[in-house]
Amino acid sequence: MGFEKLTERLKNPENAGQEPKAFIYQLPEQIAERLTPAEKEALEKLTKVSDYVQALSESHENEHRFFETLPEDQVQEMAKLNPEVISKWTFVEAKGDQIITVPYNQKFTDLNKKVSEILRSIPKIKQQGNYRLPPAIRFQTLAEGFTSNAWQYAEKTWLDEPWQARGVEFIIGPIETHLDGYKGAFQAVVGVIDEEATREMTDTIIAASKLQHKKQISKIDVRVIHLVANAGLGLKLGFNAQALPNDPKMVEKYGSRIVFYANLFEQTFDEKLLPIIQRVFEKNVVERFSNGSHKLLRSAALKWLAMHEESHPMNQEPGLEEKLGKFFNTFHELHCDVSALYLSSLLREHNLISSDEFEAILLTHFARKLNDIFISEFEEGGKSNPYAEGSKMEFNYMASMVDFIPESGELDLERESEIIQKINDLMGIFNYFAASQDVAREEIEALFKKYAEMGHYKFAASKLRDLYIKNDNSYASTVSVPV
Ligand SMILES: [Zn+2]
Repeated sequence: MGFEKLTERLKNPENAGQEPKAFIYQLPEQIAERLTPAEKEALEKLTKVSDYVQALSESHENEHRFFETLPEDQVQEMAKLNPEVISKWTFVEAKGDQIITVPYNQKFTDLNKKVSEILRSIPKIKQQGNYRLPPAIRFQTLAEGFTSNAWQYAEKTWLDEPWQARGVEFIIGPIETHLDGYKGAFQAVVGVIDEEATREMTDTIIAASKLQHKKQISKIDVRVIHLVANAGLGLKLGFNAQALPNDPKMVEKYGSRIVFYANLFEQTFDEKLLPIIQRVFEKNVVERFSNGSHKLLRSAALKWLAMHEESHPMNQEPGLEEKLGKFFNTFHELHCDVSALYLSSLLREHNLISSDEFEAILLTHFARKLNDIFISEFEEGGKSNPYAEGSKMEFNYMASMVDFIPESGELDLERESEIIQKINDLMGIFNYFAASQDVAREEIEALFKKYAEMGHYKFAASKLRDLYIKNDNSYASTVSVPV
């Protein structure tokens, strides 16, 4: 399919219900017109790859049911006998009375083979320094992942690349374990780096990271991408950004690369965050932020996202993931949300942001919490995901401690210092849980459960229902918010 065909497909989306397809987006004119023929070819082929990744992702989701109802202790017992059981890249199956593991590349072999063939056919260009097309080794190592299950090399070659890259970018593979806490879920994001937005975002991230007192990350590299194709887990959960690698040891060695999906962020803000703020909070609060197409709210939401993402490497304590098992994602994502709030309160205390801006960050933060919760309630039939579980906990914790989102929707910033104090307290609890050897997983889970079960968020359900459920009762769009 040519690049022109890609544009054609965008204008005439094919009927749903046929072969799984990646979600396609239009590139901004000023970015599209700078593409070279080789880049266009690479984007077309990576889009085709994304279609197959969508198919793989759907097939995997049906296969990975093994751990769903299994208590954590049993999983750990099984892993002692066979460490492959908790490998990121195996299926676990019962065969007679035996438990066996099957590597990813040995299932859905047709799809894996097709992907790897396309990756190997992408034009190879010799380039040094700042590339516009990723070096050939990236396509080769990624193809290896699909055919031989050697996924570790693809991420390493990506991290070895020069920082401050330009041009085509992609993140493809079974990277995040949000499926069930253990198994890598397939994703594909393909797009083009926006150099100017990248520079601006880098400045924001550096300003916030200077204020925090935790460990410093050796290197933070930022990339803002305009997506062309999106498939798999990130599409399902609506990732707005990702901070990689996930392994704390690799972060120590390579630093952290934070990738923002610019067009997804904008879409999320317009379709979810802003409507939630407008419906949930008091009219005069919302009114005060309506200047210049809600410019202050939009930039607050972006800053929050930046601070959440840069918190990922800072909060990745060695051994934490092993200790928490499948509960890790719930805990760690919320830890990063709380860190984003905490960093904003530090910015406020140092007068680096105004009271208005701090309030705007709080509004977007609670809009994100409610969005996480109601995606699960309305789009996933109440089935919990790590974001929803954590967001219920935190929303209820804050509401019960400060009582600052009463049902009137009033956010009482007269109590700013009290709110900042509560944010500090919550941050203290999370840092302690993450770093202390003395706290057992069960204790942390119990605290989450206690707060998650309170119903403080429920007042918003009737106000937000139609954002998620269309009149015809079909599920709403795929756009959601977790990061
Ligand atoms: Zn996150």
